[in-house]
Amino acid sequence: MKAVVFHEYGGIDKLKYEEAPDPKLQLGDVLVRVKAAALNHIDIWGRMGGVPLPHISGSDIAGEVVELGGGVTEFDIGAKVVVFPATSCGKCESCLLDRPTQCKHRQLIGYQIDGGYAEYVKVSAENLFSIPSNLSFEEAAALPLAGSTAWHMLVSKGRVDPTSIVLIHGAGSGVSTYAIQLTKVFGAKVIATTSSEEKIAKALNLGADHVVNYREKDVVEEVKKLTDGRGVDIVIDHVGAATFDTSLKSLRRGGKLVSAGVTTGKSINLDIQYLYRNELIIDGSYLFTIGGFYQILKMAEEGRLKPVISKVFPLKDAAKAQRVMEEATHFGKLVLKV
Ligand SMILES: [Zn+2]
Repeated sequence: MKAVVFHEYGGIDKLKYEEAPDPKLQLGDVLVRVKAAALNHIDIWGRMGGVPLPHISGSDIAGEVVELGGGVTEFDIGAKVVVFPATSCGKCESCLLDRPTQCKHRQLIGYQIDGGYAEYVKVSAENLFSIPSNLSFEEAAALPLAGSTAWHMLVSKGRVDPTSIVLIHGAGSGVSTYAIQLTKVFGAKVIATTSSEEKIAKALNLGADHVVNYREKDVVEEVKKLTDGRGVDIVIDHVGAATFDTSLKSLRRGGKLVSAGVTTGKSINLDIQYLYRNELIIDGSYLFTIGGFYQILKMAEEGRLKPVISKVFPLKDAAKAQRVMEEATHFGKLVLKV
């Protein structure tokens, strides 16, 4: 099969569009002909190191079932499917206590396991969901990682409710496009941040109540103005070092910062006194749950949440697509059409 593979860690130039071995099915597996694969920052982290080599990235996959492994009966050949990209062991203490995101044997398709930058991928049948008829392959592929992460951050961790005011950084990222829409579904208020007039218009269009251009304005000051000096209840922060202090200073007393990413760096100086005097909560959010993905998929089917696609590239141009992701000029998901 054709695939985008890297054989050593490094820059974008390590991505090679080449012939790769077809996946071999085992008991319980399904072979999926990939039609679309969405990009995520984890693809870039993996390319820099930490994944098994050679490696095929791509955690967000939509396609058609072409072959069933032993014991699989619930899908027909030709069924249109989208992949839930995480696996957990089901046996460790975390799994038994219904905390799969804390499973120490957790694996992510496209990271520990080869992913969807390829014509074919093998996936356990347990990870497959039917694509709702109103979604294209590209839209379905844009949902799993970013949508489920947004759910886990905002709902499971943030405990958003109709009275919440939520600050969402980087409105154009995949996670943020879902977090903005989800916050509005819960009837809560969104203050988003972004970097250009064009992106402000798009964030407002998604339902954000206020959007702050962080290049032109001080976000903490704007948040204080917009909340009558109170601050927000929840901050959704997947940006990391560049926004962490702004996030803490934007919270109301007792507010919660939900952290799930470090696209700008992973170390900060923390004012511990500010933290305890304001009784702030910092909550780490790692990956997502299958229940969160189920909810996201259902909401997309009902038209209550729309995948936002920035641009579609052919598979062979995966390197170009990753360059756009690194430059962060996009708004919404970048998707490979296979
Ligand atoms: Zn486990």
